[in-house]
Amino acid sequence: MSVNQQAHTGPPYGRPQPGYQGYQQPAYGGQPLPGVPQLQYGAYNGPMPGYQQPAPPQGYFPSLGFPSKGSPVSLNSDTSSLAPNFIGSLRAPSTSGAPPPASGASLPSGHLTYSPFGQGDVQNGIPASAAAVQRPPASQPYLPGSAPMPVSQTPTFQQYGPPPASVQQLSNHMAGMTIGSVAASAPPPAGLGYGAPRPPTMPGPPLPGQTVAGPPTTQPNHVSSPPPPSAMSGPQPGPPMSGLHGPPPPTHPPQPGYQMQQNGSFGQVRGPQANYGGTYPGTPNYGSQPGPPPPPKRLDPDSIPSPQLNELPPQQKPRHRIDPDAIPSPIQVIEDDRSNCGSEPFVTGVRGQVPPLVTTDFLVKDQGNASPRYIRCTSYNIPCTSDMAKQSQVPLAAVIKPLATLRPEETLPYLVDHGESGPVRCNRCKAYMCPFMQFIEGGRRFQCCFCSCVTEVPPHYFQHLDHTGKRVDFYDRPELSLGSYEFLATVDYCKNNKFPSPPAFIFMIDVSYNAVKSGLVRLICEELKSLLDYLPREGNMEESAIRVGFVTYNKVLHFYNVKSSLAQPQMMVVSDVADMFVPLLDGFLVNVNESRTVIASLLDQIPEMFADTRETETVFAPVIQAGLEALKAAECAGKLFIFHTSLPIAEAPGKLKNRDDKKLINTDKEKTLFQPQTSFYNNLAKDCVAQGCCVDLFLFPNQYLDVATLGVVTYQTGGSIYKYAYFQLETDQDRFLNDLRRDVQKEVGFDAVMRVRTSTGIRATDFFGAFYMSNTTDVEMAGLDCDKTITVEFKHDDKLSEDSGALLQCALLYTSCAGQRRLRIHNLSLNCCTQLADLYRNCETDTLINYLAKYAYRGVLSSPVKTVRDALVNQCAQILACYRKNCASPSSAGQLILPECMKLLPVYLNCVLKSDVLQPGLEVTTDDRAYIRQLVTSMDVAETNVFFYPRLLPLTKADVDSDSLPAAIRNSEERLSKGDIYLLENGLNIFVWVGVNVQQGLIQNLFGVSSFSQISNGLSTLPVLENPFSKKVRSIIDMLQMQRSRYMKLIIVKQEDKLEMLFKHFLVEDKSLSGGASYVDFLCHMHKEIRQLLS
Ligand SMILES: [Zn+2]
Repeated sequence: MSVNQQAHTGPPYGRPQPGYQGYQQPAYGGQPLPGVPQLQYGAYNGPMPGYQQPAPPQGYFPSLGFPSKGSPVSLNSDTSSLAPNFIGSLRAPSTSGAPPPASGASLPSGHLTYSPFGQGDVQNGIPASAAAVQRPPASQPYLPGSAPMPVSQTPTFQQYGPPPASVQQLSNHMAGMTIGSVAASAPPPAGLGYGAPRPPTMPGPPLPGQTVAGPPTTQPNHVSSPPPPSAMSGPQPGPPMSGLHGPPPPTHPPQPGYQMQQNGSFGQVRGPQANYGGTYPGTPNYGSQPGPPPPPKRLDPDSIPSPQLNELPPQQKPRHRIDPDAIPSPIQVIEDDRSNCGSEPFVTGVRGQVPPLVTTDFLVKDQGNASPRYIRCTSYNIPCTSDMAKQSQVPLAAVIKPLATLRPEETLPYLVDHGESGPVRCNRCKAYMCPFMQFIEGGRRFQCCFCSCVTEVPPHYFQHLDHTGKRVDFYDRPELSLGSYEFLATVDYCKNNKFPSPPAFIFMIDVSYNAVKSGLVRLICEELKSLLDYLPREGNMEESAIRVGFVTYNKVLHFYNVKSSLAQPQMMVVSDVADMFVPLLDGFLVNVNESRTVIASLLDQIPEMFADTRETETVFAPVIQAGLEALKAAECAGKLFIFHTSLPIAEAPGKLKNRDDKKLINTDKEKTLFQPQTSFYNNLAKDCVAQGCCVDLFLFPNQYLDVATLGVVTYQTGGSIYKYAYFQLETDQDRFLNDLRRDVQKEVGFDAVMRVRTSTGIRATDFFGAFYMSNTTDVEMAGLDCDKTITVEFKHDDKLSEDSGALLQCALLYTSCAGQRRLRIHNLSLNCCTQLADLYRNCETDTLINYLAKYAYRGVLSSPVKTVRDALVNQCAQILACYRKNCASPSSAGQLILPECMKLLPVYLNCVLKSDVLQPGLEVTTDDRAYIRQLVTSMDVAETNVFFYPRLLPLTKADVDSDSLPAAIRNSEERLSKGDIYLLENGLNIFVWVGVNVQQGLIQNLFGVSSFSQISNGLSTLPVLENPFSKKVRSIIDMLQMQRSRYMKLIIVKQEDKLEMLFKHFLVEDKSLSGGASYVDFLCHMHKEIRQLLS
């Protein structure tokens, strides 16, 4: 968005709002006018039947039992208990998510008022119809059947600096990691290869204090140095907990037996540690902390059971002396968190509480901080000074998903209407009223929690304080008691001081030869006939407010007049693509119901009209320009759905040439492959953002089409890209249609501006995601949907205080799908620490990886990929070295000690380093890399988690009688058994891998053929068979498809088939064919890096 729009949106960040003037404003005032529908955000189809009054949770006092610094922490001094109990001018909570097309009853009346006396639980308020139905979408980064991968073996350490000079050097290195107390004993062979499957997970419950060492069997344990906490019933490593019935301990609940130092390999419950007592030499870093330090993880290679050397293939002998079972297991960490945190709701009333992992299924109750579905942080306890932050090198970042879909049982943000006067804000920093503002002087003024400025309470907002200093309407106002809520925006928050019109969707279909021949054009037209009935609409609206328009194009553009009064649609051709204009205004954007017959006729005719086309060339930029001009003419925001097949080489603005060159890989020019080849699209994107024109791109390439350039506008307007290489109707149409349906129906806001405010001492300095920025603070998005994430990095600009902590407030100004201007506010309070140990104890590695991946993926635009990889390794080594130096007890330098909350940092980091963007295999195309780079940049934490460390499920272990998934196993070939069938998913693909020795009966049940050899190569669907195993597998796949924002491509892989190479690419703990290190090797490498930093 251009600077101009800053002026339009000035008020939210500019002047204070005018005082109270009554609720006269038509449609947007405090009281809805009769006949004016109240817009319920996001409930496209299923509006909400009556709303139940939320009640204060009984007796919940979030501040009790908080271990940090021994003092209770509450939201602010006024709030010791929180309970939403809203009355008055509140409107119904908005809904979010993409509900099923035909679910839900309509809302009886537009305006929902909350009874002040109701006592229903807040969680019951949202009807099931608001449930998000995820239309499984898809994408296709990899092409099965493309050239087989190269099989060259690269030295393991190649990517991370000089490789060990020799085997001897590596041995020395590893010997150096030894700690004296334990002797290494060689365990049984590790069972490399398919032959001997390992147990998928380690037995026994997870424990916080384990060392990364020791065999699971008889190995004596290592000493863990942190001091035994004096009162062990309390805090565990990890986030502070309230000792209440409310929030479950986020990551590490009290574990019986914690006092007994738990050592040994992961997952093993150990007896009391003989060496434990008295080994802690001092408490330089923990002294003031009531809680125990996070028990470190230690890696002691020589004490770790290793496969017998003579059992290993020759080239592995020197390296694989560490038992993979003895190093931190992602599966174990995920399972531990599930069993610890999955049963109780996560209540957000406590400052700095680390939420459960994204892989844990948990319910959230908003009691003053935004749900982790909206905001996740790399650390929930941030250093008080920039020196500490620099020393630790832990990035301080928040991953924000402002319109995230909630679980059906969770409460959607309430819509608060302050009438003409708009939301109450701080006079100076313009922060919005929130639970952390302090009311003073009997309630006449409030002090800003972000900048400390004191502001008069507007007369209409005045309320008395109770004896604790809390406003007596505290529970009645979401903005005083909840972490997330919405304000209805006044006209001051609108472009040109005018309330927006409802947005429009324009469908723009490539009708060149390839698109027609593949059946794509016909498929799209057929689908649109029904899909147009499911456009997003707000709760109680009878029909969607969104208008639609249609364009087809090849070298020229065809606009269609589909005005309801016409008997037949009219086509208007614009062949002068150099200066695009829209040849018709009236009749281009129409209401679907009014123009139903004309639209249906058009969609019938399009495939016929172009059936015999010989035109192979396309334009691209003029297509976007046409959509943009149409929205400008209609004075509305909107979304373009562009279905495009080829590199736009026809003579026109934005014309491209094929500049793909894989020889640039690993050269200083590699970055150009990720950069657009012309700045034309950047300028176009800027214009689009200014108009609120979001561009979604569906690509169907048969060859290189320069995703890096074509994606620029999509990326900068907050849109989505989908890619279906070598699109074939039979195999790809389900995936494409599922993606399209979900994309059209999902919750989306337009003309969005997001600003993140912080309390004094830190500020947002860097932003990652699909958006445009015209200044240093405002993130502008022409469109923002429920799947898009913005990652924000923070830096210190002053000291923070442990007492006041740190606050974030994310304010998103946007236009809803019905054209209502709104502000969505998310607040989050964090702790601050003067001890580095507290930082490391409250980190979230999944979020850290999300940030690091985005940081690295942006880095490849400007730096050689190797430089980016080295910087990543270096930063993580510094993070871990700082912990080792400042937080772990003195011990042998040969020991690798990992903070409990970061014990997966090495394995996940290695996955990022090995990803196709940072280390491509030869089979990965330039377009694939550009595509993945863009996708990852908008991913949330759950998506990056499964993308970098895919989920691997043994299907043959699935219980056909239960709904549960089989326990996941680690991503390594040696975990696979020839006699089993596995499923691997990473958010983009689902592989089903079939071992050569799978029982005939299972093959018959799943594939309907009698033997392994009869399963066809390259199968992409499973037959629908009426037996429990087939049903179970298909239901698992359906369930996974529902969980992801894109429909995943299904690829059946037979063991020892050519396609297996593709599958093995995702076994990320193994060495990769493109040279990526195995987990074990990388861990050794990290250890070496850390030791170098410490010496
Ligand atoms: Zn302020």
